[in-house]
Amino acid sequence: MESQQSHDQLHVIFFPFPAPGHMLPMIDTARLFAKHGVNVTIITTRANALTFQKTIDSDFNSGYSIKTQLIQFPSAQVGLPDNVENIKDVTSFEMFGKIGHGLWMLQDPIEVLFHDLQPDCIVTDMMYPWTVDSAAKLGIPRIYYSSSSYFSNCAAHFIRKYRPQDNSVSDTQKFTIPGLPHIIEMNPLQIPDWLRTNNFVATYFEPIFESEKRSYGTLYNSFHELESDYEKLSSTTMGIKSWSVGPVSAWINKDDEKKANRGHMELSIGEESELINWLNSKPNESVLYVSFGSLTRLSHQQIVELAYGLENAGQNFIWVVREKDKDVDGEDFLHDFEERMKQSKRGYIIWNWAPQLLILDHPSTGGIVTHCGWNSTLESLNSSLPMITWPMFNEQFFNEKLLVDVLKIGVPVGTIVNKFWFEIGEEALVRREEIVKTVGILMGSGQESKEMRMRAKKLGDASKRTIEEGGHSYNSLIQLIDELKSLKKSKALGEKEDQIIEMKM
Ligand code: UDP
Repeated sequence: MESQQSHDQLHVIFFPFPAPGHMLPMIDTARLFAKHGVNVTIITTRANALTFQKTIDSDFNSGYSIKTQLIQFPSAQVGLPDNVENIKDVTSFEMFGKIGHGLWMLQDPIEVLFHDLQPDCIVTDMMYPWTVDSAAKLGIPRIYYSSSSYFSNCAAHFIRKYRPQDNSVSDTQKFTIPGLPHIIEMNPLQIPDWLRTNNFVATYFEPIFESEKRSYGTLYNSFHELESDYEKLSSTTMGIKSWSVGPVSAWINKDDEKKANRGHMELSIGEESELINWLNSKPNESVLYVSFGSLTRLSHQQIVELAYGLENAGQNFIWVVREKDKDVDGEDFLHDFEERMKQSKRGYIIWNWAPQLLILDHPSTGGIVTHCGWNSTLESLNSSLPMITWPMFNEQFFNEKLLVDVLKIGVPVGTIVNKFWFEIGEEALVRREEIVKTVGILMGSGQESKEMRMRAKKLGDASKRTIEEGGHSYNSLIQLIDELKSLKKSKALGEKEDQIIEMKM
């Protein structure tokens, strides 16, 4: 009976890309599938698994059919130190390339795993275009997992198609993105390098877009009520199915322990209670949370401007600083600053990894300074927080436009250059005066802030409703799982018929 049951059960493999912004939502989604009766296998490497295995074990012990299948990362072959298996741990462009090389080397062993595990479907990160062929070989659907918004994907699509930036006479002259339901203006420097100049990265993305079109469909960590216009536009332009099942972080990480440990080995009890006590000591909606996601690194000069900006703004704040942000000059500066903030009780520095979901959901948190990474955007939205938008690279500038121009819940700090941290120069420096000004608008008691807060609250409510039973995202997930079950059934039926025909012949 048991083997019959497991044979009938839908088996889905999830294969995440090793960067927190890709991996965390995919793990959340995999856990949601398991919670809805699917047998789930997550394929990843050892160092990556360590960041979420405790949660998977806890789900398994609660009766869900979910496990991790480890695969060895070829660290030695590509010349990386042990345990550097995630983009968040790279400190140079060279290391970035080595991780890419290591992932490329994993293709064959992963294909063997797919073959051995015989799943009914694979959900793979957009960065693995080759998996569309792996799925075809096995005669199963590949679902493309998008790590950003419908809005940014549509914007990138129309910029690639019509190249409106070519008509701008200078890098700072604005153009309108064609094909979108809202008037969205940007300047050429704000769009990703690979869209602007057709450089080597563009050729890297080509197979990714191609593979989306050949996939069974796309999974979005987004929700209908948030960007329905772009959900519709995306389905007409891409011509393939999509399912909006977000926000997955809020759906699956309901208790404080899950929120605190998401994406991290474990926060010590002391660290967590110190933070929570600090937040508890502050009035409601008085704390600004400042985070630039998992990949961005700030220059020393930018750290100094930000520190003084926050201090001069006179608002309570929590700031997440990476250990790797410290440079020789910076070390003393940040530690002195931290000491000063401790004494004034105005600011709280978190080193390296913050329990972001816990902070965003705390009643004392009243706003966020964000780099507009899609996950942080959704998570802030779910907590009904208005935002100061400070995009850094890639699609973050598109997400900023969604927040500021469409949803009207963001105040832009005014960044104008789209570059990854290791290419960024002084031209992108945000001065302390700008920081003071935007913090004043967002956290102040003016009309603009009140209206943004009201809109953010509405979106937060919609975000909570959509993942409840009967909500859009909830229905979308159930519909997808049912569809995959039917596909499995018809495949099994087809195979049976083939066998009968063969026997008759
Ligand atoms: N995150 C976190 N603590 C940190 C930094 C990041 O929990 O200190 C999580 C955050 O909640 C989000 C993800 O890591 O889910 C980062 O993804 P996002 O798309 O916001 O930005 P990226 O890191 O990809 O630039």
